[in-house]
Amino acid sequence: MKIMWHQLKEEQPVVMRMLEKSIEKNRLAHAYVFEGEAGTPKKEVALVLAQSQFCSELNGVVPCGMCAECRRIEHGNHPDVLMIDPDGATIKKHQVEELQKQFSYKSMEARLQVYIVNEADKMTASAANSILKFLEDPESPTLAILLTENTQFILETILSRSQKLSFSPPSLSTRIALYEEKGTKEIAPLLARLSNPFREKDLLDMSDWIVQGRSLVIQLVQEVEKKSPQVLFTLQEKWLAHFKDREELELGLDLLLFWYRDCLAVKHGQADLAYPDQETLLKNMALQLSESAIAMRMQQVLEAKRWLLAHVNSQLLMERLLLRLQEGL
Ligand SMILES: [Zn+2]
Repeated sequence: MKIMWHQLKEEQPVVMRMLEKSIEKNRLAHAYVFEGEAGTPKKEVALVLAQSQFCSELNGVVPCGMCAECRRIEHGNHPDVLMIDPDGATIKKHQVEELQKQFSYKSMEARLQVYIVNEADKMTASAANSILKFLEDPESPTLAILLTENTQFILETILSRSQKLSFSPPSLSTRIALYEEKGTKEIAPLLARLSNPFREKDLLDMSDWIVQGRSLVIQLVQEVEKKSPQVLFTLQEKWLAHFKDREELELGLDLLLFWYRDCLAVKHGQADLAYPDQETLLKNMALQLSESAIAMRMQQVLEAKRWLLAHVNSQLLMERLLLRLQEGL
């Protein structure tokens, strides 16, 4: 656990430096809203922040992670550090009331009381109002930490009484690990690269479709590089049937882009691939293509993505792209 603080500081330097400074100057806010995508260590930061307030072996502002106080916080059985999780789909008023009751028993002896609300955007309106009263008028010194992926769904009155800390998006390797946990090992490196907050479709629901799309990309690039006449048939019968609308075609073009990016990575001896199980094929292709030829292919795919934005017809756009890829040196 001792390493935890430093690990978190490496992963979320801005957030951790802000907190360090506030603790050093004794200027912690009474309420924080931690905002960050799934996979960002909001809960971990909340816990180490709580530890920093109770640890008996502090090193500067850094909690030891080993003492009884730190361990009780880590294991969720510290009487003055409570956590609320959604009960089913929402966080209900009675959960907040129970927490307040528990705190009022302790308020005579406790120096500080900390509560962490996980997925705070799931509070019902009445739960949020209870929290709000608590924020405005705590009976004893209290530190509230609300965690959320989206502050849009949190009452403005709560936000205005809190300090918001925005977590940076999770790193690529963290995102890959997240998708692997969700049981999509084969395509986790692709899903992690495709996911961004602007994509409307849930990639996990599309995993089968992405598995198929991925095979299509592998087939298409091989036909392109062999300058096979088959490629137009594959385009017509398979590619356009699979990547039907604009959003799907954009995903298809991204998959294609990742392929050529992998080619370049392999050429440079890098291991971090979107198609890790295709390393042999990638290496063969990378041997036959110069660096600038690969870069040019990536340019062509990027240009096709721009055509897509300009509403060029899918078939025309793809035919143009394949022609240019096959003409490539
Ligand atoms: Zn400690």
